[in-house]
Amino acid sequence: MVYNVVMDKNEELRKIHEKWFTECKCELKKTATQPVPGDGNPNSKIIFIGEAPGKTEDREGRPFVGAAGKFLAEMLSEIGLKREEIYITNIVKYRPPNNRDPMPEEKDACRDWLIEEINFINPELIVFLGRHSMNDFFPIERISSVHGKLLIKKFNNINVRHFLPLYHPAAALYNGGMRETLMEDFKKIPKILEKIRIEEKNNIKVEQNKLF
Ligand code: URA
Repeated sequence: MVYNVVMDKNEELRKIHEKWFTECKCELKKTATQPVPGDGNPNSKIIFIGEAPGKTEDREGRPFVGAAGKFLAEMLSEIGLKREEIYITNIVKYRPPNNRDPMPEEKDACRDWLIEEINFINPELIVFLGRHSMNDFFPIERISSVHGKLLIKKFNNINVRHFLPLYHPAAALYNGGMRETLMEDFKKIPKILEKIRIEEKNNIKVEQNKLF
């Protein structure tokens, strides 16, 4: 029974992505090999959002399958999670040439796709992987100040209100200090999820930035 529900949600998600393969007007389509839609468990309580696909992702059509993805899988296993258990996506669904930063109009062109997948999964927590991803939702925050801190905000187009900004795994990969900080921040995820559940059960507000 549960199996059927999961299968149906996977199929529905596949159809959402398929629709956006044609409807997305992002200019990066012209240079990318293929779209890189979000991927993972459609019932996940957490969505991880990165910036844009890189070379390996562009070749394989899946997010976070290169070096940063391997590091992400390592961090997930530290908190007892497997990649298949969570959902991972990017702000922009096509690789920018030479991995340059995505431009505002490219982010805008991919935004409705992102919002639709967020609403379909409807997670309890969004984890931003890096400043580009965070700044798309919180334009004035600085990653050096808010990494590892729970941000709470009600947006009018999504249900989820809890957001955790982290350093990007690719930035932290070869930087010992940042790597350690990212790992420490990552380990807060189970506790944050627990607090959100307690909040929801008892209708108490978790205070932004205070608990973690
Ligand atoms: N970096 C990202 O932000 N996204 C990917 O999918 C891979 C690397």
